[in-house]
Amino acid sequence: MKFGGAITRLAGTYLAIIMAMSLGFSVVFYQASVRQLDRQRPDQFRQQFPAQDDPGRWVGDFLDRRAQEAQRELAGQLVTINLLTLLVGSVVSYRLAQHTLRPIEANVAAQLQFISDASHELRTPLTALRTANEVACSNQRLTAARARQVIAANVQDIQRLQQLTDDMLGLLRDDGSQPQQAVPLQTIVTEAMNLVVNQALAKHIGIDDQSQPLAVRGSQPRLVQLLTILLDNAIKYSPEATTITVQTHKRGRSVQLMVADQGIGMDQQTQAQIFRRFYRADQARTGTKNGGYGLGLAIAQRIVEQHGGKITVISTPDKGTTFTITLRAATL
Ligand code: ATP
Ligand code: MG
Repeated sequence: MKFGGAITRLAGTYLAIIMAMSLGFSVVFYQASVRQLDRQRPDQFRQQFPAQDDPGRWVGDFLDRRAQEAQRELAGQLVTINLLTLLVGSVVSYRLAQHTLRPIEANVAAQLQFISDASHELRTPLTALRTANEVACSNQRLTAARARQVIAANVQDIQRLQQLTDDMLGLLRDDGSQPQQAVPLQTIVTEAMNLVVNQALAKHIGIDDQSQPLAVRGSQPRLVQLLTILLDNAIKYSPEATTITVQTHKRGRSVQLMVADQGIGMDQQTQAQIFRRFYRADQARTGTKNGGYGLGLAIAQRIVEQHGGKITVISTPDKGTTFTITLRAATL
């Protein structure tokens, strides 16, 4: 998308407004000044000296000339001022138009990036799905058992695609309308833990719930989703038989929710990227071939932003990671 043309058009509009105001003001000012000068016209002066014809005409002509000179001078000054306004106005209008359109340009670029990333992410599993089905179809000796296997694999792939589209829609959703109420943190922790308990059990990972009876202001389902994303990651990126700790603290008017794991951790470079959409660290290192789409933390960050909160990460490779979420405290 080209923004150069839009900037020039907007700058033109700004300049037209500035010039219309400047010219309008000049015309009004000029007319008022001419009227003022007219009040001292020699005709009136002459009428005051009807008897002394000669000196009256002489003074009258002199004042006449002076009035005309003053008018010319005023017109010249106003033209200069308007030319200056045109010059300065052009620069100011262009800068102002750039300033106005820059955030819109950034937004459009981000959306285009999202569409291109999303299409890319959808294309890979769709191609795999198509190829698997084409191969199965062209197999003359396809047995019922093999067909069932292919269908089962298809269903799994479709589920993953559904999850991906749900996540992408979740990212685009604007939750300004979600009710913001006092939500007990312990309820959020319990609900999120229930959602990931099977995953944790499969890896013999224990979740130590040290949450206190605190409350935050927000939307309960969105906060459960937020904590689930963090717990899901903590489980996915931790070796078997480790422990994940969930803690809550009151900090003045805020409440902190911390999720700490003893997993693979991340270096500084990775930490700086994890909130980007579709970002996934090196698969060989994370050991998650079918991990996900790299949308979890982007969604988490969006939820936190919608709550006016903050999310930070501290991590050491091969030691573990702690995510801290700061939210507005509420009273129950
Ligand atoms: P998805 O969440 O969409 O299923 P994902 O888990 O790969 O996929 P994110 O949750 O956004 O995506 O995480 C982005 C990356 O950050 C992960 O791929 C992983 O490399 C890194 N990461 C996130 N959480 C942790 C953690 N607790 N420990 C180590 N690395 C992590
Ligand atoms: Mg994740």
